[in-house]
Amino acid sequence: MISSKKIKTTCSYCGVGCGILASVNTQEKVMVEGDPSHPVNKGMLCSKGMNLHYVVNDTSDRILFPEMRWSRSHPRERVSWDDALDRAAGVFKSIIHKHGPDSVGFYVSGQCLTEEYYIVNKLVKGFLGTNNIDTNSRLCMSSAVVAQKKTFGEDSVPISYEDIELADVFLIAGANPAWCHPILFRRLEKHKEQNPNVKVIVVDPRKTDSANFADLHLQLIPGTDIILYNAIGRRLIETGFVDQNFIDNHTENYLKYRKQVMSVSLSTASKLCGVPIDDIRTAADLIGTSNGFISMWAMGLNQSAIGTDKNFALLNLSLVTGRIGKPGNGPFSLTGQPNAMGGREVGGMASLLAVHKELSNPQHRQEVADFWGVDQISPNPGLSATEMFDALESGKMKAIWIICTNPLVSLPNLKRMEKAMANAKFVVVQDISHRSDTVAYADLVLPAAGWLEKEGTMTNSERRISYLNKGIDPPGEARPDVEILCDFAKRMGFRGFNFSNSEEIYEEYAAMTKGTSIDISFLNYDRLKNEGSFQWPVPEYRHEGTPRLFTDKKFHTPSGKAIFNLPAQIENTSEKPSQEFPFILTTGRVRDQWHTMTKTGKVSRLRTHYSHPVLEMNSIDAYINKVKEGDVVEIKSSNGIVRVRAKLSKNIREGVVFLPMHWGKQLQNDLNRANNLTFTRVDPQSKEPDFKFTTVSVKKY
Ligand code: SF4
Repeated sequence: MISSKKIKTTCSYCGVGCGILASVNTQEKVMVEGDPSHPVNKGMLCSKGMNLHYVVNDTSDRILFPEMRWSRSHPRERVSWDDALDRAAGVFKSIIHKHGPDSVGFYVSGQCLTEEYYIVNKLVKGFLGTNNIDTNSRLCMSSAVVAQKKTFGEDSVPISYEDIELADVFLIAGANPAWCHPILFRRLEKHKEQNPNVKVIVVDPRKTDSANFADLHLQLIPGTDIILYNAIGRRLIETGFVDQNFIDNHTENYLKYRKQVMSVSLSTASKLCGVPIDDIRTAADLIGTSNGFISMWAMGLNQSAIGTDKNFALLNLSLVTGRIGKPGNGPFSLTGQPNAMGGREVGGMASLLAVHKELSNPQHRQEVADFWGVDQISPNPGLSATEMFDALESGKMKAIWIICTNPLVSLPNLKRMEKAMANAKFVVVQDISHRSDTVAYADLVLPAAGWLEKEGTMTNSERRISYLNKGIDPPGEARPDVEILCDFAKRMGFRGFNFSNSEEIYEEYAAMTKGTSIDISFLNYDRLKNEGSFQWPVPEYRHEGTPRLFTDKKFHTPSGKAIFNLPAQIENTSEKPSQEFPFILTTGRVRDQWHTMTKTGKVSRLRTHYSHPVLEMNSIDAYINKVKEGDVVEIKSSNGIVRVRAKLSKNIREGVVFLPMHWGKQLQNDLNRANNLTFTRVDPQSKEPDFKFTTVSVKKY
């Protein structure tokens, strides 16, 4: 008889962070169901989460043993772990000796567990002596991170999912949570069903499922977000819906903000954004008269050449109305990846250090160096995601180690990224699947353990730390990422990596948080396993976690006040559409796929929603350009070409087209890749790429 054990764990896909009960039978086959006791999802799972067991049970694509090639003219061959890691250590030592520590870099992932993120940052920043470690979270969250730091003094998300049930007006900006954060959206839908007075405003150039659900859809011209949010701010000020007491006592820079928003009339803003003036007034009046106002946003704001400025403009609406630090009120940045926030906590970006310390601050660098027992942390700024690939292309960086991410589908301007990878002297790819397009460029492939095959922790969008349980052994010779990294560190001759398990790594990191604003020094694995998930900070032993920040109106800035940051310019800085490239391309996700499909692409029932990529195009644009439904169209930018079928729609603005970003070379062909077209232009403050604004031409092929 086949019996099974049930294990509590957490979904590995998005930043909602749903609890899962995984049943593992004696043949190590897995089934999943939503965990009814988990505070986030209360038993619900979306299509991706409820099909997670297919991904685990199907090991046909898994990397099972280390593979290595001695030269580019030879194929990779199976090698032992000893040979693989000795070679990695030998090559890294030799490159660093010849070219210095900044000639190597690590590119990691928002899907890494916190312990993995911590160890790789300790290894790179503390011991290899470079700050060249960045993450694919750079592609989705970094604009929000910079804006939150400059507004609140730290990268802090003030609110919780439980605030959803306490609010009555929601502004969803540049996000489609109905598809991309489904369980969070179900909570909002249920709340609105039970409370018809609840109003939802969606800002998006596309009429998405989220926009269809909304009471008010502001279908703006891409790139005009700041003008729109400033116009709403102006209307709030003109109608007196501001919290003057909060502004006077708890903020800085209001008068400059006031001056900026008053400099553009509502009628001018309406023309610039393509949003009717009455809709701008209605949105402002709904926000102003609400009892609880929550803004939610994602990539539509972040993935922009002015992404940080767009974030400022939206955050300023919470400051001007004083809607922060109160139940049912506050700005809520929706994280895309399951552990984008946990990664930031341990310093998982080139510009950050662990426990929210700043790389640019000499005192912070010394504190971290002292904690790790090293002389110093390099003062040289680390390279961000796209900068690392630029450095490989130019030859400044010689070696890259890529963990749990597939940049040759997800980065912009893929032809250029392929050249950069081909130019690298040594490429290590540490991952679970041969379906990654990036594996083809690896000199050394290291098989990693996947979800349910290792333990650790993650932090979701609402600062909730959850424990992920190990239920099964990894296939073949795959090993947990922390084991691989610690083994490599020891072969490099570094002290400080003698951990016998993930719990010891967690304890070292938790001790580092003591006395900081993200203190979890009293939260250990036992509590996480026995009592469930907790929202940081958890600064005392019996502390139950912190659902809401800034309830005392004290912010982390030097003055203790929140800051109205002014967008440097209110107009978009991306290149404008031209005669040659008249359309604005935006890229994004579809409901049932995740990132570059290395996991969701394996599940046949998840491919029924979108079996292949299509270009969403306005029906009038299609008529003018003689394109019919289902025609193959050629989309061109100055970077490259994509050929896919057209899907005509009235739900997208004229002049705007949309392509999903998931498809890579391996699954179809290289003309399906949206990132053939996109540019490496980034926001100068956050270094986040401008995925939401590429000028293209579209012609029937
Ligand atoms: Fe997983 Fe996100 Fe779906 Fe929840 S909403 S089941 S975390 S993919």
